[in-house]
Amino acid sequence: QKVYLNGEIIASEDANISVFDRGFLFGDGIYEVMVQLENGIFYKKAHLDRLQENLDKIGIDFDVDTLYPEIDALIEASGLSDASCLIYMQITRGTAPRKHSYPKGIAASVMMYALPFELPYINTKNMKAITANDFRWHRCDIKSISLLGNIMTNEAAMIADCDEAVLIRDGKVTEGSHTNIFFVKDSKVVTHPANEHILDGITRKVLVQLCKELDLPLIEKAISFDEIPNTDEAFFTGTTTQIASIAQLGEHTYYDGNDIGPITKQLREAFAKLKDIDTAD
Ligand code: PMP
Repeated sequence: QKVYLNGEIIASEDANISVFDRGFLFGDGIYEVMVQLENGIFYKKAHLDRLQENLDKIGIDFDVDTLYPEIDALIEASGLSDASCLIYMQITRGTAPRKHSYPKGIAASVMMYALPFELPYINTKNMKAITANDFRWHRCDIKSISLLGNIMTNEAAMIADCDEAVLIRDGKVTEGSHTNIFFVKDSKVVTHPANEHILDGITRKVLVQLCKELDLPLIEKAISFDEIPNTDEAFFTGTTTQIASIAQLGEHTYYDGNDIGPITKQLREAFAKLKDIDTAD
């Protein structure tokens, strides 16, 4: 396994990070996940732009544009040039004696790796999800490497033999532990607005655009927990999830088995075609 670390591509066992790295001490960093499909990295620019925006939000001084050639070199060195793969990237503020405020003049630590990763052309797996209290902080728009709230709720889903946890804040559905969530109600598509209580997923953005192109009415508003049984369809979106239909959400059953609602199906098929167009850049 190769990794990219601060300008070098090396074997993962030779990659070392200081125990004083602020990512290790504080979770002071940002991450990004992209997938390479048949024609290239899916919405690469959108992912790298989001990475830059997130670094800017927390004042980490790093120019993401410098990574474009490094990503290509990493994929090649990993023997994945012609393969479906996942690219994980993380940038922390760097290494300095431990103090809370931002140290000046240190270099960010940059780490990336690429792994083989097969995505189905269309994700046909139906999901089962628990609902869980969204006890995360109020800056979920930041793609922080501190993911305790996300991993704790995801673990609760695994223990319940489910695929995902759907988070509820103040009686409203925000998002999944590592996905965004969309509902369909009375032929309208509904998803939480992109504010500080969710991560504005790249797949979410693609879906918002797709709804426009398909003339499907889309409303950006939070669905309340009590409204869930009155919704007609629900699905998750995410880079590694694509569009996944939800069969069971908490106490509410949408489908037995692998059925799928008509609007989820329409969006899933349109999404699968889109892939080929956008990645051809
Ligand atoms: N919300 C959260 C909390 C996530 O972790 C993710 C995936 N990183 C998403 C939504 C989906 O984002 P994307 O479509 O960019 O993968």
